Amino acid sequence: MFFVFFHKMADFTLELEALRVENARLKEKLKQHLLVEDMLLPSSSNLPRAVIGMNREGGENACPAPPWIAGLSHSLTAAQIQRYSRQLLLPSFGVKAQENLCKGSVLIVGAGGLGSPVALYLAACGVGCIGIMDPDRVELHNLHRQVIHNEASVGETKVSSASRTCLAINSSVKVVEYPFGLDARNALDIMAQYDVVVDASDNVATRYLVSDACVVANKPLVSGAALGMEGQLTVYNYLKFQFCKALKFIQLQGPCYRCLFPTPSPQAACQRCSDAGVLGVVPGIVGTFQALEVIKVLTKVGEPLSARMLILDALSSRIHTVKLRGKNTQCVACGELPQITHITLPNFDYEKFAASPMSDGTPPREQVVGEDQSITCTDYNKLVRGHKSHVLVDVREKHQYDIASLPDSLNIPYAKLPQQLDTIRAAAQKHKHEGDEDMSVYVICRRGNDSQRAVQDLRSAGFNLVYDITGGLLSWAQDVDSTFPAL
Ligand SMILES: [Zn+2]
Repeated sequence: MFFVFFHKMADFTLELEALRVENARLKEKLKQHLLVEDMLLPSSSNLPRAVIGMNREGGENACPAPPWIAGLSHSLTAAQIQRYSRQLLLPSFGVKAQENLCKGSVLIVGAGGLGSPVALYLAACGVGCIGIMDPDRVELHNLHRQVIHNEASVGETKVSSASRTCLAINSSVKVVEYPFGLDARNALDIMAQYDVVVDASDNVATRYLVSDACVVANKPLVSGAALGMEGQLTVYNYLKFQFCKALKFIQLQGPCYRCLFPTPSPQAACQRCSDAGVLGVVPGIVGTFQALEVIKVLTKVGEPLSARMLILDALSSRIHTVKLRGKNTQCVACGELPQITHITLPNFDYEKFAASPMSDGTPPREQVVGEDQSITCTDYNKLVRGHKSHVLVDVREKHQYDIASLPDSLNIPYAKLPQQLDTIRAAAQKHKHEGDEDMSVYVICRRGNDSQRAVQDLRSAGFNLVYDITGGLLSWAQDVDSTFPAL
């Protein structure tokens, strides 16, 4: 009896504690909610609470709009006037431009280094609907440049993290989340719902797809790219009206991506932030310029960067703009006889065309040498633990080797291998004990591709016992030592 009573008391105590925690959580939530309302409508303001939620006309739960609103010649609410006052004060901007922003919609393809500032500024300035598309989840190594995410977002989908940040800045905008990648089958349907498209992607295949789909869907495309210490941006497929000498307006269509780059260059497929690296602030600058171009296109304020390209050299802090070739009448996307249409585009294989995947993930490992010339990281680790004499050659570039490397390894970058054969022979001789057969040489790199080529080259140069360490240091970090940085 006593034990039953004791257990019931314990249950009540636990339940009471849980209710206290829930009560505290709800109080905190209410406090935050009231704080946001206070921020929207400071107590010193004369603005009525009716405008919360940007409801000018009054919805189901809205209070009547203030009397002075009725006499205005524009559609902005009192809260919108207050929030956007600093850009409304600009003589070249004004209420008409703000109305266009509030009514505008933008699809951002990529919520990474470029997409972050684009989404942040478009939400802040009041673009009515922002679609954010990205198939990836936030990783720790994203945070140095993808400033829309934070440490608490690691592991979460990028679109969910970006959406939450946008709404925390401006809860009056609508954010649509697309937690998947753009592909040839979904591109046209999704783009049809937006006024402007932003290419904030990180790979060549997506770049061609976004441009082609914008041509077919007749949408202006604000395209940016950043790599290393350099960046560039332009506006593709932009239609402008110009008053000509014949005293009439004519339509001028700017070039598309294919007008300038009919086929992908072999180098383009290799240029990825995950390989080449990027200084975080560089995509930040380019993405901020992209947000500016979106605002100009939506508001018709200023001269969008059509048929011109802005080029950023972060090392010298130089920005210059070059004139681009105009629209190519032979272009297969936007030319006089287009081959890419709403019928053919969904079946076009962009990954095959660009010879690169539509993601910034690790590219598939090449298979150059056979199993008899390779060793897994796990087996190589056993060999090291067994103190078997050998030579370990790391063929990464020196700046990568300097970040982190395995003990007792010899750094000979792959490009310098032919000149360093004697160095390897000397190292093998040094480790060789009396009576030993030829010394084994193991080769490692970042992902296991250059190391395979190095094994082939070394065997051709007369080294008989040379082995590739399969999967390189990324596999080492995954299979052997989780503390080793998986760069
Ligand atoms: Zn074109």
